[in-house]
Order: sequence, then structure tokens, then C-alpha cells
Amino acid sequence: MTESNAKCRLYVATPLSENAPVSLQPAQAHYLRNVLRMQAGDAIAVFNGRDGEWLVEIDRLDKKGGEGHAIRLLRDQRAEPDLWLLFAPIKKARLDFVVEKAVELGVSGLFPVMTANTSVGRVNTDRLRAQAAEAAEQCERLSVPRVAESMSLKEILADWPAGRVLLVLDERGDAAVPIAEAFSRLNDEQGRPVPAAILVGPEGGFASSELDALGKLPIVRRISLGSRILRAETASVSALACWQAINGDWRGSRPKGQNDA
Ligand code: SAH
Repeated sequence: MTESNAKCRLYVATPLSENAPVSLQPAQAHYLRNVLRMQAGDAIAVFNGRDGEWLVEIDRLDKKGGEGHAIRLLRDQRAEPDLWLLFAPIKKARLDFVVEKAVELGVSGLFPVMTANTSVGRVNTDRLRAQAAEAAEQCERLSVPRVAESMSLKEILADWPAGRVLLVLDERGDAAVPIAEAFSRLNDEQGRPVPAAILVGPEGGFASSELDALGKLPIVRRISLGSRILRAETASVSALACWQAINGDWRGSRPKGQNDA
């Protein structure tokens, strides 16, 4: 049972405040009507990434979409840790897995990055955005991470934000530091994590020229996940989990959420 009795949480674009009208997309209305068998008068929880989570009463559901109105705030907005995942695109099913797990593991940004050995030519960012929203709804996040358009490694490095450390998962490098050791040095003097990005390579691995160039940048730490070569999705999930445990929000207690009532 949840505090709100809401059977479902949805991500919406509209601003949320008391009595604010809330519009639902046709696919959301279809899901509520035909899968959950909901109707006008039923309540759902919604969030928009800015105004917290709200209890919403449904006023109308039909083929064209739906409408409701916000009743009361269920949870205050809170930010996810400032952690990006940069990934060389891999095949569809594996990429979907990476996006879903990265959202559950609390990333704030997802960046498809084209490297020398990336074999997938095009990324459907709209599909990834929809997947990110769905994963955020399911895992009770209050925000959906930004999904950037794909860029080359060179492009993203050319515009790299000052102060953000780049954690390169390096499957071969002698220069790579074991992950627990590297991550334990990342927090500032108050124990707060510095903004970070984890970069995972493609199935074909990084080109040695890429690793050499990355290794010369002061913002880069080359990270080892041990002697076994992991698939890109295993490496992504493992590194994100380590970051949350050592630097992120797995360190503190879980804030009171919907399911704790
Ligand atoms: N085909 C490549 C492996 C690529 S694995 C090869 O044989 O070298 C895909 C990506 O996962 C790598 O580019 C790296 O970013 C990450 N990865 C896999 N295993 C890793 C490990 N043991 N340590 C650090 N990163 C790893």
C-alpha cells in the first residue's frame, strides 16, 4: 500500500501545483484505461522532474489522451547525484538494458558517444528518452535523466565542463587504477562527490590512440574493473553501482518514499 493509494506513477511535462490541470499523452491514457482499468475519479501519482511528486485525480481518459488535476504534494523534489554515463552505442536490446539500469542506478545524464570502434551507426534518442522515462516511473525517481544527441568523443571532449572528472573504463590499460581505489579519492574535503562522468567503450574496445589521448587529459582517471573483459553493459552497471556505493546516494539512508507508509 502506498501513502497515496495511487496505483501508478507517470512522468508528465506539465507544471504541477495544487489544482493544476495535468494532461496525459494518448499512450498514458491507453495504459491507464485498458491495462490498469482506471477511470475518472481514480488517482495516480505524477512527477515532472521539477515540482516533486503529486497525487492527481483523473477527470477524463479516452483515445485522444487524458486529463486530471493535481490534488496534493506527495514528495518534495530532490536532485539525483551529478553523475553522467557516456557510452559507445551497442546493439538495441543491450542498449535498452544499459539505459534502463543506468536510470535505476541514478544517473543524471546519458550521452551516446561515437568512438573509433563503435559499430552501431545511428542512435534513436527518442526511443532512449521514452525508455528513460519509463524506467524513472518504475523506480520511483523524481526526475528523468537528460538523454543527449550522439556526439563523437572528440566533440564531447572539446566542450567538456570544468570540474567534471571523466572516469574512463579501460579494459587493457596498465595505467588503469582499481575502481574502489580510484573512486575513494573522488570526493571533496567535505566528503561530497565531485561531478563525474563514467565512459564505457564499445564492444570493439577503445582504440589505443583514444586511450592515449584520454590519458593525457587532467580530468581523466583510467579505471580497471579487474582482469576479466566485461561486456559494455556489465561494465556500465558495475561502475555505476560502485560509484553509488562509494561516492553517491547509497551511502546515506533512503529518504522516506511512497512505499514506506
Ligand atoms: N573487445 C574489447 C572489449 C570491449 S568491452 C577487447 O577485447 O578489448 C567494452 C567496454 O567495457 C570496454 O571498452 C571498457 O570500457 C569496458 N570494460 C570491459 N571490461 C573491463 C575491465 N575489466 N575493466 C575496465 N573496463 C572494462
